[in-house]
Amino acid sequence: MGKNGQVGWELQRALAPLGELITLDRYGHNGLTGDLSDINGLRSSVRELRPDVIANAAAYTAVDRAEEERDLATLINAEAPAVLAEEARALDALLVHYSTDYVFDGSGDTPWQETDSSRPLNHYGATKLAGERQLQASGCRHLIFRTSWVYAARGSNFLATMARLMRERDALQVIDDQVGAPTGAELIADVTAHAIDQAKADASKEGLYHLAAGGETSWHGYATVIAEWQQGRGIAIQATPERIGPIPTTKWPTPAQRPLNSRLATNKLERVFGLAMPPWQNGVERALAERFG
Ligand code: NDP
Repeated sequence: MGKNGQVGWELQRALAPLGELITLDRYGHNGLTGDLSDINGLRSSVRELRPDVIANAAAYTAVDRAEEERDLATLINAEAPAVLAEEARALDALLVHYSTDYVFDGSGDTPWQETDSSRPLNHYGATKLAGERQLQASGCRHLIFRTSWVYAARGSNFLATMARLMRERDALQVIDDQVGAPTGAELIADVTAHAIDQAKADASKEGLYHLAAGGETSWHGYATVIAEWQQGRGIAIQATPERIGPIPTTKWPTPAQRPLNSRLATNKLERVFGLAMPPWQNGVERALAERFG
């Protein structure tokens, strides 16, 4: 599901070697649909396909708009995953699903563990948490990956917007008191492929995991790395690193409140699956090179 999103696109590459892959988006093909707002269509599509693994990369991801389109966000992020979970349970299929650091309230400055209490600050976060809980309550076999600050070489995201604004504007102000790890869709997809392979062989590995790149930064630190990379490649930018100013979240009001502490501890993921999360800068530089190099 969600084959054309940032993560969905990379999953198409990373999951291809694991077996026959059938990809769906919100539009119907051959009587099948991956439209998460069409609960009946979704259910009958899963029943028809009878997959061993369902990977759901589709979501309502417009965080601010979700404050207004509350019912639609709930339908896509919570009710549709519940249907996928019911169907996965009936088929004994493994359901792979993604969630977010926005399930936390952003307090403190230590990385969040999977066992920490969740308290979303906005409706998007609440719907994503409800989706997680639907999977867990259903009793289906599942892998849920909470990730953060997702970017990819294609699609629209902070990385692409900032890279453009640096060329267009002579100065920028970027939030410096929200801290997390920019995480590439490539990394998410590659980790997902490893995890599916291992969880299919060992059911004790199923469950909830935090999946984010290594290290941490603020949006301001992230923007500075993007500016430095462009300068290093000789790309003309007006908003050079010294012309990117830090501002607090309070100076940038948005309809949806964001957590200040988005750090996700990945030790469980690394231990269970024998993986090591690379520093966040590696993937960012790679995505910049793919996009602009
Ligand atoms: P994108 O916004 O890039 O992609 C979301 C996809 O969902 C799009 O392809 C979109 O389709 C699809 N979609 C939206 N509504 C429907 C629907 N009704 N039926 C079917 N498909 C639909 O998201 P990401 O790849 O970045 O996110 C992947 C996962 O990671 C999501 O679960 C998200 O909540 C989570 N996540 C994302 C973060 C981020 O910063 N982006 C941070 C933390 C977690 P279309 O292209 O047609 O609109």
